[in-house]
Parts: sequence; C-alpha cells; structure tokens
Amino acid sequence: MVKTDVIIIGAGPVGLFAVHQLGIKGLKAVVIDNLDKAGGQCIELYPDKPIYDIPAVPECTGEELTNKLLEQIEPFKTNFYFNERVNEVTQDKENWVVQTNKNNKFVAPNIMIAGGVGSFESRKLSLKEAEKFEGKSLFYSVKNKEEFKGKNISIFGGGDAALDWALELSKNSKVTLIHRRNEFRGAPHTLSEIKKLSEQGKLSIKTPCELVSIEGNKDISEIKIKYEDGKTEQIKTDNILSFFGLIMKLGPIAEWGLSMEKKTISVNSDNFQTNKKGIFAVGDICTYPGKLKLILSGFHEAALASVECFKRARPNEKYRFEFTTSSKIIKDRLGKK
Ligand SMILES: Cc1cc2nc3c(=O)[nH]c(=O)nc-3n(C[C@H](O)[C@H](O)[C@H](O)COP(=O)(O)OP(=O)(O)OC[C@H]3O[C@@H](n4cnc5c(N)ncnc54)[C@H](O)[C@@H]3O)c2cc1C
Repeated sequence: MVKTDVIIIGAGPVGLFAVHQLGIKGLKAVVIDNLDKAGGQCIELYPDKPIYDIPAVPECTGEELTNKLLEQIEPFKTNFYFNERVNEVTQDKENWVVQTNKNNKFVAPNIMIAGGVGSFESRKLSLKEAEKFEGKSLFYSVKNKEEFKGKNISIFGGGDAALDWALELSKNSKVTLIHRRNEFRGAPHTLSEIKKLSEQGKLSIKTPCELVSIEGNKDISEIKIKYEDGKTEQIKTDNILSFFGLIMKLGPIAEWGLSMEKKTISVNSDNFQTNKKGIFAVGDICTYPGKLKLILSGFHEAALASVECFKRARPNEKYRFEFTTSSKIIKDRLGKK
C-alpha cells in the first residue's frame, strides 16, 4: 500500500502540471496512467503537431510540451505507475483507496482525476480465441523485446508501431508482417528499410489479408490468414503482436459514484472538487459552466484544486499564497538558490 498526499489519475499534460502545483505547496503525489509513458493525448495523438496556444510558448509540439512539463516537475522526484489502469476507488474514513488492474493499492486524502477522455487502451483482435492467448503469446505492446528472440512472430498492423517492431524484431527472429491493405502508413525511411529486408528474404510481408483463426492449446502454434481473393495460408507462429491503434475508454471512472454529465465529471469551479469530498477532476475529464477543453484551462484547474488538496492533507497548517519568484520555501522545493 503506497501512502501519499494526492493520487493523480492520468499523466497527460494536466496531470503533469498538477504534480508541479502540488509540489510547490509541499505535497507529495503519485501518478498512475494506463499508457506506458507520460503525455496523454499530446504524446499519443499528436506528438509531432505544433500547439500554438500555450501561454508564453509561441509554438511547440505535443512531445516537446510533454518533455518540458516533465523537466519542470523533475525536482519533485515523483513516482509514476505506468501501464496500470485505476479500476476501483473506495473510502476509508478520511482517506481514499485506489486500486489498479495490477492490484497495486494507494491511499491518500485526495484524488485528482486528470483522466482526459478516459484511459487509452489497445484495440483488440476481434477473434474469440484471441482472449485465451492474450498476455501469454499474443501481445498488444512490447514490454521486453528479449522475450521475442528466436521466435516466429506474426505482426499485424500498417502503422508506425507495426513497422518499427517488425524492423527491430527481425534482427533476431523470423517476422511476418501482415496488413489488410497493400499500403502501409509508416515513416518513409522505415518503409524503405522494411522493403529492403523483404527483398533480402529476411522478413515476410503478407498483404492484403486478415487473420481468420489462431491455432494452439496453451501457446499459439500457427495462424490462418485470408487474402482478398479468398485464398488462405497457414503461418507457423509462436507470438502474435497486434498494433491496431488505441481507443479511449472512460471505463471504470463512470462507476465511482461521481456526478457525471455526458461522459465528463461535474465539478464546482471554485476548487474543482466533485460531489465527493477529496476527489477532484481537472482537464478534459471535468465539466462546469463555460468549460473549454484546452490545456491552459486544465493548468488553471490543477492550480486551484491543489489549494484544496493542501487544506485536506495538512488540516493543521494554514495555506499561504506565495509567488514562485519571491518565496524562499518554493525555491528550496524547486532546488533553486
Ligand atoms: C489532434 C489534437 C490537437 C489538439 N490541439 C490542442 C491545442 O492546440 N491546444 C490545446 O490547448 N489543446 C489541444 N488539444 C486538446 C488537448 O490535447 C487536451 O485538452 C489535453 O490533452 C487534456 O489533457 P488531460 O491531461 O486532461 O488529458 P489527456 O491528455 O487525455 O490524458 C489523460 C490520461 O489519463 C489516462 N487515464 C484515463 N483514465 C485512466 C484510468 N482509469 N487509469 C489510468 N489512467 C487513466 C489516459 O491513459 C491518459 O494518458 C488537442 C487534442 C487533439 C486530439
């Protein structure tokens, strides 16, 4: 059980800035995200696209903004729990207890939900038999590439993730890249590398076709694919890697007894508290009269919510408003002289 002052759900731009606003007030936070990295929509949906409306930053990409936010919270040495979805929220007297799908438990007087449009989850294969192999020989992401060494790997997908892993894993394994269209959508350089490997017989490309069945008992032994003209082919396979993109699921957030409005959480705009004391919602996930789904609005919401978090986490201390430019305590917390 991890004890902290604030449990932040979501490592998007707003969750990251919340760490800063809590940190300068001397509060400790942990951040939990279902993705394998920080940045939320900025990193997952538009890492290379420019953003023009971050105050005092005329232009930056989604990735650059994420990196700057991470740099800004570096002094607080925050623990991040990636690849974990928060499933349950329960009350224990004055505290909230949060449990993830990996059965990790966190306890704190405050929860700040910065869950955006819900957790990002991999689009799964629709075949019924796929489920029994998931996490054993069928994967939707690669955590440790060493596990795939010397194997027969069938990779599905036509975007960057499928192409990048086909290229990487073909160094030590027999890779078949399968896509339902003839055209791939990856970076031109990666595509030309893939074509080169295919011409040299070091990687096999099958298009346009789709998966029709997976064979095997405990582990996968082979798969069957079908071409557009109806012809089928069996492929010896130890592992399937499927990269059909991500979907956003509000998922468990809707089941925590919070007052909701059209898939967003209603908050009061004085302190961004929900209908449950000590549970706050900030960023795209929250709604109130006049709400704008912009990063800068989320930053403001996190700043105000952090004041109320302070009052709940330090009931015997008085909250003092201070400027970062002149506060010695804040400068100490930031490691500045
Ligand atoms: C193409 C595009 C362009 C945009 N351009 C701009 C722009 O120019 N300017 C601007 O201000 N805004 C822009 N936006 C909007 C901006 O990206 C969002 O307002 C911002 O990302 C919201 O941040 P957030 O931290 O609230 O949520 P998100 O960025 O959505 O992050 C939420 C995180 O919470 C995680 N999460 C959710 N539920 C759970 C759970 N139960 N357990 C664990 N983790 C969970 C998700 O996996 C996700 O990583 C754009 C959006 C898009 C799609």
